[in-house]
Amino acid sequence: MPEPFIEDEMTRAKRGIAWIRLEEALRATGCPVCAEVESAEKHYIEGLLYEYVLDAGVRKKLHQQHGFCTRHGKLALTAELTLKSDGLHLATMFETVMEEHLQLLDKQASRIKESTKVTSKRKRKPTFGAVDAGECFVCAFVKGTENIALHGLVYFSNDDEFIEAYRRSRTVICFRHAQMIVKEAADPIWARRISPRVLEVTHEKMKKMKTDLSNFIQKHDYQSAHDYTRDELDSYLDAVNFFSGQMRL
Ligand SMILES: [Zn+2]
Ligand SMILES: [Zn+2]
Repeated sequence: MPEPFIEDEMTRAKRGIAWIRLEEALRATGCPVCAEVESAEKHYIEGLLYEYVLDAGVRKKLHQQHGFCTRHGKLALTAELTLKSDGLHLATMFETVMEEHLQLLDKQASRIKESTKVTSKRKRKPTFGAVDAGECFVCAFVKGTENIALHGLVYFSNDDEFIEAYRRSRTVICFRHAQMIVKEAADPIWARRISPRVLEVTHEKMKKMKTDLSNFIQKHDYQSAHDYTRDELDSYLDAVNFFSGQMRL
């Protein structure tokens, strides 16, 4: 009788969505965690505009958090343009939010006006109900996605196939995400999962970036040197992107 095939946990995990997304991210450039998050963020915003324009929950969040943050406001505008809309989705989404904020500002202006009429000495500093924008709900979604993407990578960090794919790929885990991996290594739940190999490969990639930067700078000193490699010419971009990532909010 042949031995029954028992699939191990890793083989099973490699059929899951986390592995598929990671493999896709490794085919791009930049940071694979940032790439996953950026893609999810884009789809989320497009979904908001095209499926949830009339959703009361979305409007409530937009109202409570006083619109999107700057980044996500810009991305929402880009999504409208990319999807060839004249702006009707965002107009519909913001109509009631605008109405509610009109009332708020009106109330605040009245309170200030009233206070100027009061001549007696005030004991306390007046508050006119100024509001602060809370965390944008797209930012909250992005943080959740980032957590999932990072732990997906951590899960596979000890797998030979992953390490080889990461070594070969043009991606490099950005500094911030590398630091998040270092932090997770101190967490007892993730500590046994994390392999330092993923950080060692990142270190090798950083060394290459540093060499490219130095060569790029040094070759400027030679009178006739125009023999820059592509990587050397891009070295300053890679350095900035490595520290900023694509998703440093
Ligand atoms: Zn990153
Ligand atoms: Zn945001």
